[in-house]
Amino acid sequence: MSSALATALTVIAAIATVVAIVLFARTLTGMVRTYQGGQPTRRSDNPGQRTATLLRETLLASRLKQQPVGAIVATAHWIVLVAFFVLFLTLVTAYGQLLSPDFVIPLLGHFPPFEWLVESLAWLMVLSIVFLIALRVSNRPDSKGRNSRFFGSTMWQAYYVEITILLVGVCVIALRAMEYALGSSKGESWATAVHFPFTAWIGSWFAQTPDSTLETGIAIVAFIKITVSLAWLITVAAQPTMGVAWHRFLAFFNVWFQRNADGRPALGPLQAIAVKGEAIDFENIDELDDDASLGVGTIGDFTWKALLDVNTCTECGRCQSQCPAWNTEKPLSPKLLTLALREQSHAAAPWLQAAADQRSNLHEDVLGIAERQLIADGDGDPWAQTSGGVMSPDVLWSCTTCGACVQQCPVDIAHIDHIVDMRRYQVLMASEFPSELNGLFKNIENKGNPWGMNASDRNAWIEEVDFPVRVFGMHGEDEIPADVEYLFWVGCAGAFEDRAKQTTKAVAELLHMAGVEFMVLGEGETCNGDPARRAGNEFLFQMQAMQNVEVLNEIKATKIVVTCPHCLNTLGREYPQLGGNYEVVHHTELLNSLVDDGKITAVKPVARTVTYHDPCYLGRHNDVITPPRELIGDTGASLTEMPRHGKQSFCCGAGGARMWMEEKIGTAVNKTRADEAIATGAQTVAVACPFCSVMMSDAVAAKQQDGGAEGVEVTDVARLMLQSVKSD
Ligand code: SF4
Ligand code: SF4
Repeated sequence: MSSALATALTVIAAIATVVAIVLFARTLTGMVRTYQGGQPTRRSDNPGQRTATLLRETLLASRLKQQPVGAIVATAHWIVLVAFFVLFLTLVTAYGQLLSPDFVIPLLGHFPPFEWLVESLAWLMVLSIVFLIALRVSNRPDSKGRNSRFFGSTMWQAYYVEITILLVGVCVIALRAMEYALGSSKGESWATAVHFPFTAWIGSWFAQTPDSTLETGIAIVAFIKITVSLAWLITVAAQPTMGVAWHRFLAFFNVWFQRNADGRPALGPLQAIAVKGEAIDFENIDELDDDASLGVGTIGDFTWKALLDVNTCTECGRCQSQCPAWNTEKPLSPKLLTLALREQSHAAAPWLQAAADQRSNLHEDVLGIAERQLIADGDGDPWAQTSGGVMSPDVLWSCTTCGACVQQCPVDIAHIDHIVDMRRYQVLMASEFPSELNGLFKNIENKGNPWGMNASDRNAWIEEVDFPVRVFGMHGEDEIPADVEYLFWVGCAGAFEDRAKQTTKAVAELLHMAGVEFMVLGEGETCNGDPARRAGNEFLFQMQAMQNVEVLNEIKATKIVVTCPHCLNTLGREYPQLGGNYEVVHHTELLNSLVDDGKITAVKPVARTVTYHDPCYLGRHNDVITPPRELIGDTGASLTEMPRHGKQSFCCGAGGARMWMEEKIGTAVNKTRADEAIATGAQTVAVACPFCSVMMSDAVAAKQQDGGAEGVEVTDVARLMLQSVKSD
């Protein structure tokens, strides 16, 4: 190889390297300063556990395995990830090869295990990336429309990243093959198949090639490899919103700083509303500054972790493909929402990066962008920013808080936290929310339940059963008697909604038959506050929760059984935020354990085929997946699963206070889910939530009115169990 060529390639590579590193460092610094401009929040508790979570999620790719082809995709992605770091050493080698084609990293270069690792990773990376490209091509939005999980993703960026990886892999293989050929020609002892296990066969094609040609070839391919890598680095630096590339760096931090140190998804309890990192309640709200914002109205109201969250999005679309709103033609896609917030964070970067006391001095254009409302009416396109808002109210209010997006996200983005924070602002600061919620809030505030029923009707169901039910206070109790094992929290639906009342009565009867001593609060119960909290009315939630916690603590409640997954989640996992700590179980868990203990015995098998609809707040949010299925098995019924079940279940459409909002856009979520249940051919759709019961039975009834779903019934698992326990 001529020395002039070697010098020219080396100089060009050196200049390009400096430029790329400077540009990358400048962008990275700017990004970090942008995130620092967010509101404070504490996310560094249990550093050891956080590190273990990071290692587990990275090395086992645990989040990527959830989909049907997830294990293959996870493996391919894992190989590319590992290769990205290990093959960095081949980039170091390439720099040396510009000047000396024989260059190897001292000590490591001819160490066989290292060479095996490099060669096997290079081949596997090439195969993996070809597979991932094929997957993307076969799932293109221009052919599949909204059904493609890549709809709305920036496709050129993904292809560019993938082609870069492919080229790097091909360069590594080509270099190794030519190194073998050159070494063989020179009679080097290391030029054997032991050192080149997967490339010697290619190298043997160049056996007749002159050494000088091989040396020039090595230098040129090394230069191409360096150029491809630097072009990627410069492109990434120039495109700070290129999530498909940036997640490779940001995901490690986003996973480490996620809400739960142990890696549980950000599901279940919501976090308390906070201002400047401090939780706000009735006691400290008066201490707030006059201009304090409750919830999130503009991008600067988000915490630094939320800003990191939205910037870590890989645009993979796994959240979108599972979202019930997106799958029923609503404007909400958790991915598009995330990307819109990411774009806004970059647009407002000069404001976020400025010192707090200097922000008001910024140019009016910068201030205009920073003050842009995140939620505002558009001109028909929910994502158009022409009206001054980042997204339309229909986007925000379409969410059922089902958690499918959070469950799926491979980089632990907490969509629900962000959506609820934006709802809080709309309700508490802007007073802009769907008009139907006015009725919900008033009913909870004035009557203590979403239906606006009288508290005196809470015990109506007791008059319809033929066994005694103990009501707290009826005999002058001032705390739960020692012989009462469970407080049965009936819930508003369980007391007032006809179908849910059937479940309440069935559970009470089964507990009575099993000899479990229980007691209900009767008129002492009031709404747990879940719908208010999910609708953004945090203070109405706190009012309800504080009232309930006060009562429950006063009567010394310890063990509580509920029939509603929303009660399970709120009483069991949100009330600890307000000093209420109870052992709360869902009725399917308790009944299942009573069957296991032989206290309930099925005597008459249910001769029907059953499919089970997992309520989001039972399965995904609270991990109760097996007990309802075991109970169904105990009834003797045969269970047929829907394609989407367990943690991948599809919402009924009622969560996130959607139960009390009109569904004006797209297909009804409950009808989509009912169609899936009916398609299994099951005669019974079993549910374990009063809201799912309403949504599913309404949808099945509508189907039956149109002449379909003949003979299909919707019933709670407890009612099925009661059928099989009663011999008559
Ligand atoms: S919580 Fe459910 S409805 Fe809301 S954005 Fe996520 S997937 Fe969609
Ligand atoms: S939010 Fe998560 S699941 Fe959704 S596209 Fe981004 S990385 Fe993928």
